[in-house]
Amino acid sequence: MKEILLLKDGEIVLKGLNRRQFEDVLKKNIKIALHGTGRYAITSAQSTIYVKPIDDEADLDEATERIGRVFGLVSYSRAAMCPEKTLESVLETAPVYLEKILRKAKTFKVEAKRSDKKFPYKSPEICRETGGVILSKYPHLRVDVHNPDVTVYVEIRDFGAYIHADPLRGAGGIPVGTGGKAVILISGGIDSPVAAYMMAKRGLKLTAVHFASPPYTSPRAEEKVVKLLSKVSRYAGDLKMITVPFTAIQEKLRDDCPEELFTIIMRRLMMQISERIAKDNDCAALVTGESLGQVASQTIGALNCTDEAAEMVVFRPLIGMDKQEIINIAYKIDTYETSIEPYEDCCTVFTPKHPRTKPILKFVKQAQEQAQFEPLIEEALQNLKVTHITPEMEI
Ligand code: ATP
Ligand code: MG
Repeated sequence: MKEILLLKDGEIVLKGLNRRQFEDVLKKNIKIALHGTGRYAITSAQSTIYVKPIDDEADLDEATERIGRVFGLVSYSRAAMCPEKTLESVLETAPVYLEKILRKAKTFKVEAKRSDKKFPYKSPEICRETGGVILSKYPHLRVDVHNPDVTVYVEIRDFGAYIHADPLRGAGGIPVGTGGKAVILISGGIDSPVAAYMMAKRGLKLTAVHFASPPYTSPRAEEKVVKLLSKVSRYAGDLKMITVPFTAIQEKLRDDCPEELFTIIMRRLMMQISERIAKDNDCAALVTGESLGQVASQTIGALNCTDEAAEMVVFRPLIGMDKQEIINIAYKIDTYETSIEPYEDCCTVFTPKHPRTKPILKFVKQAQEQAQFEPLIEEALQNLKVTHITPEMEI
């Protein structure tokens, strides 16, 4: 039996005149997400995107799973294409295609959507007839129109008749790339991969910046970030990862700045360097995984000091979330297990015993200026390492 994927546009239906553009990006993202699972014709009509395999080679199990991670879709269904657009064909196809589900269910109902108004039967007739053949083939079933175990959908559309069970929930959000570009500051922790996922969901195309301080941080720590980003890229699409050599800067920080200000000055330096990388990469915002009150550098006072270092808008999608809420998302996107692998991040190098939770901006800036980081920043920017991240990376 020939199958097709029917995808429902999400929020992009609200975008009025820009809708075409949004849909084009969404279709492109779908094509990229399905890369390697087969060949498809991808078309759209009436808030639905049709993903139709061109031959019998497509791996639709894998394709369906990947579609579930594409932002911009509210729901999606894997459906049978009836051989003909006739009621007879619908009645033959429905009980066979949905056999497994119908055998397991106790109750069902049929819902017909008839967007091709030339089809000679109206929706109530389609429902009645389809319900009738299902009941005769599966006598254990009962009809329950209010709370059925399964709803059988019959869709009569311009290009064919389709049968499917309850649609699956899409990833939501808006298509990656329609919201502009931003830099995500990524560590190997739990929070920043979740922040990346959340902002990709709002349509941002991300470039990842990671600060590494070898030999204080190990190559394993960097591999961990690559692995995390590869998982994030299943949602966010391919990403560029830029690794900043941070050792000399951190050593200078240790040698030339007051200990209680290490963390806050380090955070400011991260912001400044990331902003410069952002500008070079055509990005207009910064994203971090900070959450209010989580650690000393994430108090209002500290965040004010950090923010002052960059001119660009800084998105902190986790700011109001509890750790457990963040962890729940980390599980969902499968980054949690990797995040808790025990490799040092540069943030834990030279951590002060008593960091200032209420740093005074004037003193922080003075200390930072006195140390004169500029030559070292320039040098770091000359020695960036670029890694191209894809969902299928072997790590
Ligand atoms: P995470 O779990 O994301 O590491 P965290 O709660 O441990 O966050 P911090 O270590 O204070 O908090 O870092 C706050 C934010 O700063 C991170 O979410 C991330 O956006 C950024 N950050 C921290 N370390 C690095 C790093 N080595 N490279 C790039 N960005 C970093
Ligand atoms: Mg961290």
